[in-house]
Amino acid sequence: MATECAIGLDIGGTKMAFVVADRQGKIYHESTMPTDAGGDSAHTFNRIAQKLNQLIAAHEGVSGIGIGVPGPVDAERGVAFQAANLGWKDVGLRDAIAERLLRPLPIYVENDVNAGAIGEQLFGAAKGESQFVYLSVGTGFGGAVMLNRRLLRGASKSEMEIGHVSLDPVKGRPCACGGRGCLEMSASGRGMVAHAIEHIADYPDSRLTARAITTHRIIALAADGDALSAHVISEAAEALGIACAWCVNLFNPPLIVIGGGLAQAGWRLLEAPLRLAMRARCLPLNHDAVTVALSALRDAALGASALVSYHEAQGGEA
Ligand SMILES: [Zn+2]
Repeated sequence: MATECAIGLDIGGTKMAFVVADRQGKIYHESTMPTDAGGDSAHTFNRIAQKLNQLIAAHEGVSGIGIGVPGPVDAERGVAFQAANLGWKDVGLRDAIAERLLRPLPIYVENDVNAGAIGEQLFGAAKGESQFVYLSVGTGFGGAVMLNRRLLRGASKSEMEIGHVSLDPVKGRPCACGGRGCLEMSASGRGMVAHAIEHIADYPDSRLTARAITTHRIIALAADGDALSAHVISEAAEALGIACAWCVNLFNPPLIVIGGGLAQAGWRLLEAPLRLAMRARCLPLNHDAVTVALSALRDAALGASALVSYHEAQGGEA
C-alpha cells in the first residue's frame, strides 16, 4: 500500500513551492514555479491545478492538499480575502482548484503564517506542544496562537494581526494599514528597509546605498560593523523582544517559536538583543516559564502540507 501523503503548496508573491510529504514530514517531492501573478487568475489556477494533477498521478498515497497564501483567509470557505502581492481579492481558491482536479481530494486553504504555526507543531520547533505562540518575521510581521492544538482564529475567522499592534501610534513610522508605529514597521523586511531609508542621511559613512537597500544587505553589513545597518537590526530585535513580552504577558505560553525568512537569516544578530528586550518587559514568573526557539520547519510548503493532518484531527472543521 502506498504511504499516505499530503501535498503542500505555498503561494508567495514571486514563487509557488510544492511538496509531497508523508505524515511524519518526510519529503518525497519538492519543486517551485514562478507565481506569475497579476494576470488572469484563471490562468494561475490552471497552472496550479496542472501541477497538482501531475503530483496526484505520481503519488497514489496523496490524501489531501494544503495551501498557504499571504493575507487574510476564510479557512472555512477556502477564500483568500486579500492577497495584495498576488492581486487577489475575495478569491474562492479552494473551489477554483477543486473543480480543476482530476481526482477529488480535500483542499484546505490557510493564511501562510497560520500554516507555518501548524507546520511547526507537526514537524518543527513546536512538535508535540499543544500551546505556543508563533511569530513570523518576513517581508511583513505576523503571528499565530495555538491553544489546545487549535489555532486561535478570532471573530473574523482569519488570523492574528500582531504586526499592526503599535509601539508608537503618534510619532511612529507610517504603516500601510493607515496607522503609525506598527510592529511591522520595525520588525519586518518592509519596516527595516523603511527605517534604513529614513536614516540614511544621518549615516554618511554607511555602506548601504539608498537605491539598493535589501534586508539581506542590511544583515550582511550589520554583521560587518556598518553602523546604520546595526541600528536597523537593533530596532528590529527590540521590537521583536517587545512583541514576545506582550505575548508572554497576555498568553503565558510555554513556548514562542520565531519563524520567517528574515528571522532565519538574521537570527545570529537578532537573538541576544531580542532576549534582553523581552526579559525587561515580562513579568518574571511568566518569563521563567517560557522558551523562545527559532523555527525548525524546513520550508513553508511543508507547513502547508501539515494542514491536511491538522484538519483531519479537527474533524474537518477550520
Ligand atoms: Zn500597521
